[in-house]
Amino acid sequence: MAGDGVKGAAGDTRRAVTVAEALRAGAAKIEAAHSQSPRLDAELLLAEALGLRREDLFAAPERALDRDEAARFEAFVRRRQKQEPVAYILGRRAFRTIELEVDDDVLIPRPETETLVEVCLERLAGLDVAEPLVLDIGTGSGAIALALAAENPAVRVIGTDVHPVPLDVARRNVRALGLEDRMSLLAGDVFDDLPPGLRFDLIVSNPPYVTPEALRRLRVEVRGFEPYVALRAGDGGMEFYRRIVPQAPAWLVPGGWLAVEIAEHKAVEVITEFVAVGRYEQIDVRDDLGGLPRVVVARERAAGVAPSVSRADAAALEAALDDAHTGARPVAPDG
Ligand code: SAM
Ligand code: GLN
Repeated sequence: MAGDGVKGAAGDTRRAVTVAEALRAGAAKIEAAHSQSPRLDAELLLAEALGLRREDLFAAPERALDRDEAARFEAFVRRRQKQEPVAYILGRRAFRTIELEVDDDVLIPRPETETLVEVCLERLAGLDVAEPLVLDIGTGSGAIALALAAENPAVRVIGTDVHPVPLDVARRNVRALGLEDRMSLLAGDVFDDLPPGLRFDLIVSNPPYVTPEALRRLRVEVRGFEPYVALRAGDGGMEFYRRIVPQAPAWLVPGGWLAVEIAEHKAVEVITEFVAVGRYEQIDVRDDLGGLPRVVVARERAAGVAPSVSRADAAALEAALDDAHTGARPVAPDG
């Protein structure tokens, strides 16, 4: 039982460490390993080791750790000292209103990306469509797609990723959040493997955008642990914008929206890409919470296009999504 005081193997007379002591010692070790948030990290890891919520720790600073709890916490702290991200140690990360399972096969969803979701929700709210259809290119953990589905009960979302392993993580997140009815997953390289005939009300992507040179300069926490395929982009970081921006209009309903996350110093280059395509209007940039340009969003220029060709007809969509579920389309294997 916790709180007995003396713990450990027979003959071990060391006093059990308390929550407050464990936090102090853990945070000091983590700080020495260059974490930017040592105290918070220690709290999250200790709560996990004790099977408590973080706020429960503050109510019980004198609670003693038993031997297993202390060992678990020490193991977590050792991993953190090697700069493994807290989200990978815990196996989960909060993102907007949801919590996502994450492992080192997927990018850890970033706070910046919450701004991208917000922009999408605003644009969706402005559409006069009963059940908007959304495409999330490079869905990874499923963060963007799942947050949109969780916060807008009308949307249907398709998440794609070229790599099968992230899709397995995404699939588990879809199930855990009970969003199977409104979210599908497809394996695919940007637009290349999508069932033809689909038309989306909104396409969103947080594509890889880090140049190989910039990748080498990233913190060990990112560079040493997160998947390169989620981060690295050729063509000066522009690789994916140069594919997505020109191709998206063909996959959007007239007046549909494209929203992409960008590196903070790339706004001008990405906007230039949108303008060059000549198919967009209402091009806009949104800053993230740190005040850095983070999202470019634009509307497909509907002028001259008859609304009657707008959405994929319902039957084609259902068939495509059924195929996706039954594996007739190239989908990542289950499990
Ligand atoms: N959407 C997630 C998020 O915002 O947290 C993950 C974004 S991560 C920056 C980019 C994702 O794009 C990764 O999951 C990666 O596997 C995927 N990806 C890389 N190349 C791709 C391609 N050619 N087609 C589709 N997805 C790709
Ligand atoms: N924001 C990520 C970083 O920490 C990059 C994400 C991306 O490439 N889309 O560098």
